[in-house]
Amino acid sequence: MNRPSNIPPKNDPKNEKDRQDQSQRQMRSAISYVLAGLVVLWLFQTFILTPLALRSTEIPYSEFRQKIADNQIVKVMIGESYVTGELKNSTPNATPATIPFRAPFISGSDPDLVPDLQKAGVEYSFERPANPIGGLLLAYVLPLLLFGGFWYFAMRRMRNSAGGGLGGIFGVGRSRATEVKAEDAGATFKDVGGADEAIGELQEIIQFLKTPEKFARLGGHIPKGVMLVGPPGTGKTLLARATAGEAGVPFFETSGAEFVEMFVGVGAARVRDLFEKARQAAPAVIFIDEIDAIGQSRGGAMRIGNNEEREQTLNQLLAEIDGFNTNVERPVIIMAATNRPEVLDQALMRPGRFDRQVTVGNPDLKGRIQILRIHSRAIKLAPDFDLEQAARITPGFSGADLENVMNEAALLAARRNAEAVTLNDFQAALERVVAGLEQKNRVLNVVERRTVAYHEAGHALVAELVPYGDPVSKISIVPRSRGALGYTMQMPTEDRYLLTLEELLDRIAIMLGGRAAEKIIFNRISTGASDDIMRATELARRMVTEYGMSEKLGSVRYAGQQMQYLRGGVGENSELSPETREAIDSEVQRIITEQYERAQALLQAHRTPIERLAEQLLIEETVDGAAVKQALEGDRVVA
Ligand code: ADP
Ligand code: MG
Ligand code: ZN
Repeated sequence: MNRPSNIPPKNDPKNEKDRQDQSQRQMRSAISYVLAGLVVLWLFQTFILTPLALRSTEIPYSEFRQKIADNQIVKVMIGESYVTGELKNSTPNATPATIPFRAPFISGSDPDLVPDLQKAGVEYSFERPANPIGGLLLAYVLPLLLFGGFWYFAMRRMRNSAGGGLGGIFGVGRSRATEVKAEDAGATFKDVGGADEAIGELQEIIQFLKTPEKFARLGGHIPKGVMLVGPPGTGKTLLARATAGEAGVPFFETSGAEFVEMFVGVGAARVRDLFEKARQAAPAVIFIDEIDAIGQSRGGAMRIGNNEEREQTLNQLLAEIDGFNTNVERPVIIMAATNRPEVLDQALMRPGRFDRQVTVGNPDLKGRIQILRIHSRAIKLAPDFDLEQAARITPGFSGADLENVMNEAALLAARRNAEAVTLNDFQAALERVVAGLEQKNRVLNVVERRTVAYHEAGHALVAELVPYGDPVSKISIVPRSRGALGYTMQMPTEDRYLLTLEELLDRIAIMLGGRAAEKIIFNRISTGASDDIMRATELARRMVTEYGMSEKLGSVRYAGQQMQYLRGGVGENSELSPETREAIDSEVQRIITEQYERAQALLQAHRTPIERLAEQLLIEETVDGAAVKQALEGDRVVA
């Protein structure tokens, strides 16, 4: 696979669209070739294969017999299932003088036919039985050849337009990843706003790309793969590009969807080709966007479509990653992006592969201000345009959404022939864009935002108040992904392998703290706690059935066999008596209820701190652990 690249270097960093268009065009031309082939096949069958005789007038056999008697028949050919021939044209002096006809017939059914023909003096002959091989050739092989020919041309067209040039039919395996030279990577971290944490984590990768000798000297383990995880439009592609840009190395970008093509084996060939190119250009960054298209869990249930192809491609990818970086001096960093980390095959995340995960979330207020500043660099803003105000009215927006709104605002301002873009334009643009976003459930209304803020404050305060809660490191009401409207992160102070009953109970209380806060403050509960409830129930059930932590049921294992090591779940134990099942259920329920009440009691005693914390969250959207301690200052009731 050492052919020189015939791909014209594309300098425009926004050529993704072009590529999509191109492959769509190829797809369309391939389809039109197939269609043309089918049409030709049909024409062939209808007009050439069908014997000429079949296009003559069909008459009943009885009429044919009558015509013999009437001396109307000129010529007859007797076949297996048809009698064909010519009969006199009844109109006098008409041209043609004879008309072709055919009459359905069963060979041997009319022994008088030949004698009668003889008597009438009609010229007759017998059709030779069809040569079976000739028929077969005509009916099947020829069309197949024709079809094959069309397919071949279609493929050639596709390959040529894919820029493959020479290299036979395997040219389809040439990766369409476009190489963008370092100076054209077109982005640096200056173009990325509100992703400071992610940028911090990527700094090390850049250092490593810039000065590999330094790392190689000490013989340290070298990072290989970085997985960027986050919702769409949060700048994952941008960050990967900027990483290459900052390090000043070539950037090879491709997308998982491009590997999953219609021909088995092509994806794998593309992977091989891509890595080969990167190896030659090393140090370099390979970026595989939307890797979930190929990296889906292989063991997962029910997947539709091209499984074998995907699996081959994935295996090839794993093999390439494993065989990489033997040359420490010229590293290649593989970056990938996904917004569905949960479907990825575990094999991808193993050490030595994509062992670094960088989470990119939707930006908080500060981040949104930065992003709006970046995307208004080329836009003329009115002097009184308040970026902070604009950021405040766009909670939950991703970087791409913000760029979109800012752009719409500029268009609106241009339409009214304004000198500069005002906040009013921005607001109008926002309304327009929000109409599309609301269905996507990304923009929370005011009530929902309040609910989420109090819910998260509840988790955080219970975590702080119970004796064995891990300290809170960050609380956020910025929607992180579908489903999760906010989150509270706890940072364990150390790795724990053994947990006591009290610690587990505290965990359950923390999980239920969200709902408890909603109940206490608003006296109503919402669906926002469903994930908490699921996790709490699961933990309580394990306490009862696996850890023997229920006094009533004792230290007995009630859970079934450990399932597949991959899933880590526990199966149903089919040997349990109905009474035992009931006892387990009631124990689980008791644990949950007790902890829910405990969480409510704790929060009830700390209403002021909840309000303080939640209101701060509503303003700042993300706060750190110190804010929780501050909210409790002076009001901590010893439980
Ligand atoms: P993703 O790959 O996460 O879906 P992209 O990187 O493709 O998102 O983002 C699309 C566009 O949105 C970017 O080209 C950029 O203009 C804008 N954008 C997204 N996130 C940011 C950000 N954090 N800072 C600045 N611009 C951003
Ligand atoms: Mg992207
Ligand atoms: Zn919750």
